[in-house]
Amino acid sequence: MKDIVIAIDGYSGTGKSSTAKAVARRLHYIYVDSGAMYRTVTLHFLKNKVNLDDNLSVISHLSELELEYRFDNSKNDFELFLNDLHVGDQIRTPDVNSKVSAVAAIKEVRRALVKKQQALGEQKRIVMDGRDIGTIVFPQAELKIFMTAGIEVRAARRYRELLEKGINSDPDEISRNLRERDHFDSTRSDSPLVKAKDAIEIDTTHLTFDQQVNKIVKLAENIISEN
Ligand code: C5P
Repeated sequence: MKDIVIAIDGYSGTGKSSTAKAVARRLHYIYVDSGAMYRTVTLHFLKNKVNLDDNLSVISHLSELELEYRFDNSKNDFELFLNDLHVGDQIRTPDVNSKVSAVAAIKEVRRALVKKQQALGEQKRIVMDGRDIGTIVFPQAELKIFMTAGIEVRAARRYRELLEKGINSDPDEISRNLRERDHFDSTRSDSPLVKAKDAIEIDTTHLTFDQQVNKIVKLAENIISEN
């Protein structure tokens, strides 16, 4: 039995996070949502009205920001804390959605968060999802998945996900935001969203949630049981 790192990357709204979380649960691994980290930094910058073009201001606000994952026994899950405050769904608002890709394109932000992400993966037994996990954060990950799905399916899934959280949203705006973030994330100069050469692509357009989870768990179990 081998301990491994599972990197799951892909476009916005392909179901990476819920899939990664379910895979981690099945394997008794830790799950880390790296997008939540970029969202939390964005929330902090929005609250403090940080000018994203002012590099010094970005760096100084970044240094006062403490991000921590704490295990919640009652939920059997990790919760993200920003300077000791639980962030929860505040990071899923349209305001954060519209700014997060710009924040995630800032070199200093990426450097700080990648370091944190790599530290979380030191003991392996981790599933992390994002945009650069298989390429930059864990280029040596034993299993890399790249998830894709048609835009209509992604928008509908995101709409339902928000509704389940009690957040009412506009389907057209969701679709527009997904397209914008795909474009921004794939064309930025620092760590753009690309499929790692050794990643396995899974198109989830016609897969059920259970099918996509089973597929990844099976791939992982094959590697875990290798000698
Ligand atoms: O995964 P999620 O959609 O919550 O990510 C929000 C945004 O954070 C993405 O659109 C992207 O701009 C950024 N991100 C990133 N690198 C990651 C994870 C997320 O640039 N590893």
